Amino acid sequence: MAIERVIDTSLHEDDSDESIVEFSLRPNSFDEYIGQERLKTNLRLAIKAAKKRGEVLDHILLHGPPGLGKTTMAGVIAREMNANLRATSAPSIEKAGDLASILTSLSDGDILFIDEIHRLRRAVEEILYSAMEDFKLDIVIGKGATAHSVKLDLPRFTLIGATTQAGSLAGPLRDRFGHSFHLEYYDENDIQKIIERSAKLLETKIEPDAAALLAQRSRLTPRIANRLLKRVRDYADVNGDGIIDMSSTTSALEMLEIDEYGLDPADRNMLSLMIDRYGHRPIGLTTISALTGDEAATIEDYYEPYLMRLGMIERTPKGRVATELARKHLGKA
Ligand code: ADP
Repeated sequence: MAIERVIDTSLHEDDSDESIVEFSLRPNSFDEYIGQERLKTNLRLAIKAAKKRGEVLDHILLHGPPGLGKTTMAGVIAREMNANLRATSAPSIEKAGDLASILTSLSDGDILFIDEIHRLRRAVEEILYSAMEDFKLDIVIGKGATAHSVKLDLPRFTLIGATTQAGSLAGPLRDRFGHSFHLEYYDENDIQKIIERSAKLLETKIEPDAAALLAQRSRLTPRIANRLLKRVRDYADVNGDGIIDMSSTTSALEMLEIDEYGLDPADRNMLSLMIDRYGHRPIGLTTISALTGDEAATIEDYYEPYLMRLGMIERTPKGRVATELARKHLGKA
């Protein structure tokens, strides 16, 4: 059984309350969007140039680990371009016809955001090629002898694709993006600023040292920072006067079992299983998935990137290995 996680970077579909709060915490402009300076500089320039020429923006690919602000940035871009944003995600586009109907419903200048774009089905993806390149819809109608292809003109739109797995994007799709940006993990100072900004929006008082401690435990990821902040706020509301200080933060983190690296029980469980069962031998992703009960994609998207960044997991051609640092951290050196 997979362990339920507080620091899961995915949005849980069932906790709509959380989504609403996340939504209200989302920055609306470049000025509110903290960090990612290189990304912002490049996008500001691209937006200015497109506006000056009166053209639509080139298609944009945003890639990087979950929770770093790809969806948020799509919203910021749409606002800065004064464009309508249409957001969807690849797994919800089942058939070529689904995408065709989205594309034909767009207007000139609209922005179409497709999350998890690496998960588009082949037949759907092929429709995108001519849509992105010539703003034409090339689609086959009917079956067998009556099948014929039709070409329709589409409005000039901008596609913003987001992915955690840029490597698994098909070449022809990747090549059709005029811009491709990697979102980096934030530094702790920026995460602290995000926490302080969110606390203000949530009308909660947080002391600077408590914000710094939370920032240290947030895996350098805004979504986790916001989620931890909300949990600590609950704790401070119930057990104190609602002010988030060192004492309530330390106790809440202890209760949530989040350690000084920001790892939670699920991370430690995975690392322990890897070390106990396989020692120094590399382990394939499917084996890890069988051990922990999590889907392979979850491990690849949500657990691994940060553990690799910390240097607790290494990827070798033969599989993943837990490192000395992981052993030390878990007292298994
Ligand atoms: P992704 O699409 O990369 O998974 P999101 O755009 O959904 O990530 O961001 C997750 C949450 O983190 C958002 O709800 C937003 O509140 C917050 N967030 C992300 N990036 C920033 C940022 N640069 N500044 C402030 N808050 C941010």
